[in-house]
Amino acid sequence: MDKIKKPRGTMDILSPESDAWVYIENKMRDISSRFGFSEIRTPTFEELGLFKRGVGDTTDVVQKEMYTFSDKDGTVFALRPEGTASVVRAIIENGKNSDPMPLKYYYLINCFRYEKPQAGRSREFFQFGIEMFGAKNAAADFTVISLADTLLRELGVRGVSLHINSIGCPECRPAYREKLVKYLRENSDKLCDTCRSRLETNPLRILDCKNPDCKKIAETAPKSIDNLCPECEEHMTSLKAMLDSAEIPYEIDTHIVRGLDYYTRTVFEFICDGIGAQSTVCGGGRYDGLMEQLGGPSQPGIGFGMGITRLLLALEQSGVKLPSPQPPALYIASLGERAILEANKITTSLRRNGIKAECDVMGRSLKAQMKYADKIGAKYTLILGDSEIDSGRAVIKKMENSEQTEIKISDTADFISASEKFDVLAEQASGKDN
Ligand code: ATP
Ligand code: MG
Repeated sequence: MDKIKKPRGTMDILSPESDAWVYIENKMRDISSRFGFSEIRTPTFEELGLFKRGVGDTTDVVQKEMYTFSDKDGTVFALRPEGTASVVRAIIENGKNSDPMPLKYYYLINCFRYEKPQAGRSREFFQFGIEMFGAKNAAADFTVISLADTLLRELGVRGVSLHINSIGCPECRPAYREKLVKYLRENSDKLCDTCRSRLETNPLRILDCKNPDCKKIAETAPKSIDNLCPECEEHMTSLKAMLDSAEIPYEIDTHIVRGLDYYTRTVFEFICDGIGAQSTVCGGGRYDGLMEQLGGPSQPGIGFGMGITRLLLALEQSGVKLPSPQPPALYIASLGERAILEANKITTSLRRNGIKAECDVMGRSLKAQMKYADKIGAKYTLILGDSEIDSGRAVIKKMENSEQTEIKISDTADFISASEKFDVLAEQASGKDN
């Protein structure tokens, strides 16, 4: 029979790869909570209209990349292509706008976009996202950027740089947009087909096109950062001062844009050059007009999305080896029914005390059990047979140096617990615990 394969552009993630995912996700949760963000979970699919309004009708994501389907009653839904629109909908729907401000949420989600699969780009991908609503000050932009920076530092990512830009606000953008469109019109014969149609719908996006000809035109285009109103200028100055004082290096990059009207002021990306064409590990910005766009009150917002696969690529090229899960503290090899019973009793008691322990579930020979214990990296083994059960004493072996100690079987849990505590203290003393 033909074997069924996973859909194109999706992933199976198994150990040891999944161990790295768990480690990274735990780090993301830990740092989010350190910055005062709590987790938000929203549906995997939403009404299509939410993304049309929240992501934008003119974006590639909505025009070309959405997975849509209709329900049995005819309602059209889409698998979420990103996280922000759902968060805003949930804030409005759950009346969170009357909570103390700012609202601070993080999420770890799968997203779906019909794209050409390649390194760092898949059709189902995983994103860590941050959203802060209610704060208009540059300190909010700084906090969100600093969170991403802290995460990348703590994971040990190297060769990543922070690019920032300001795209203005409804005050100053119309005039800038006009200037830009005028310039681009004069050069429209040199633009790619997509960009020529973007001239009408989403001209700012042309500045971010990867086509070499468009890139050339973008080089000499008027820059939003040179056309800011005094308030936007002050916001940017204030953000830069905070980044400087926290020693977070950045560069101004006028190619970083978001085309849609509800985006305001700060846009940023963390770019890692060593990971190939898909080099943006994290992209974010301010969207002070989004909440209103989705039918809520006027409420400033800022956030980012970070692709987990791209983060893993960045870690790989940085030579970072993530810690593997702890091996079992004890493996109990047993022979005979009474020994199996005892082995299960001891492992249960250890597990109830938070200690990782294993015993045979395969009915293997003693020799095969010892081989298995070695393979899974058990720190200690205990051998139990009828004579041990009769005498109440057994030999515990430290696998690292084959040191053997005879103990009372009833003391096993205490012996292992004490050794685990000792290991933790030794590790802390040697400063290895990071
Ligand atoms: P790109 O220009 O790389 O397509 P984007 O502007 O579409 O990025 P965002 O919508 O800002 O991306 O998403 C935030 C982050 O999510 C990206 O910086 C990237 O790390 C990740 N990401 C986006 N699309 C994909 C994908 N198809 N596969 C894997 N990761 C993705
Ligand atoms: Mg994209």
